[in-house]
Amino acid sequence: MTRIQIVEVSPRDGLQAESRTLPTETKLELITRLAEAGHTVIEATSFVNPKAVPQLADAEELLRALKRRPGVRYPVLVPNEKGLDRALAAGAEDIAVFASASESYSRKNLNRSRDEAIDGYREVVSRAKDARLRVRGYLSMVIADPWDGPTKPDVVVECAKRLLAMGCDELSLGDTSGVGTPGEVRTLLNALTDAAIAKDKIALHLHDTYGQALANAYLAIEMGITTFDASVGGIGGSPFAKMAAGNLATEDLVWMCDGLGIETGLHVERLAATSAWMSQQLGRELPGRVARALNAG
Ligand code: MG
Repeated sequence: MTRIQIVEVSPRDGLQAESRTLPTETKLELITRLAEAGHTVIEATSFVNPKAVPQLADAEELLRALKRRPGVRYPVLVPNEKGLDRALAAGAEDIAVFASASESYSRKNLNRSRDEAIDGYREVVSRAKDARLRVRGYLSMVIADPWDGPTKPDVVVECAKRLLAMGCDELSLGDTSGVGTPGEVRTLLNALTDAAIAKDKIALHLHDTYGQALANAYLAIEMGITTFDASVGGIGGSPFAKMAAGNLATEDLVWMCDGLGIETGLHVERLAATSAWMSQQLGRELPGRVARALNAG
């Protein structure tokens, strides 16, 4: 392994979980800073109902004002056909749909059963592919669900196959509550590989709630996974406020990869500077460790 792709999710997954709503121009500056740090995939915003996620209610405005850089992709989250229409009208070229591998989280987050939610994306994905968009499929709670307990790897495999069969180009498998250890991640990745799901179709979306995110990423890199979601400063709590430890911090992952001689294309100092700036914008200390260490020096 010589290179991994990091998908930066802070402008969407990060900011949607923050209590403070940032102005559009601050979000645009964040995206610019992330591109200047070397990011080539930056999840820009979300076209979910603005009432559900007021922090990202400026999705149209943001996407229209975004100055696209050559070689950088800016996926946006799309919940349904209405969201797809809005995203297309605003010039989106990359979308992501989101489902859950567990039943309770699907009902709480999407108001539908797991199977209804997944099947409900068939038309969205089909229309997006017709429009030549790239489509990513998020699958949450792939290790365990706070209400249902452990998620069976077979169930994740089944959900993954359905999303790929629909036309998703890539799956982002989320340990949304962050309970997973390398033991469970290994079992899951083996189940996916045994089911002939290609490793280059899989991204991991890790949360650091229990301090396991980097260990899980390291194991997955060793097992041949090459795409990881991360968020500058570690912003983006899990949807459970009390244990909101956040996403795997981009600069923490980059620091580890630098030490392993694995290319990410990212500049760790620029990420640390962006984390410090983001901390000021959000008015709180951010959980990422590497930025805190570098910025203290
Ligand atoms: Mg997340």
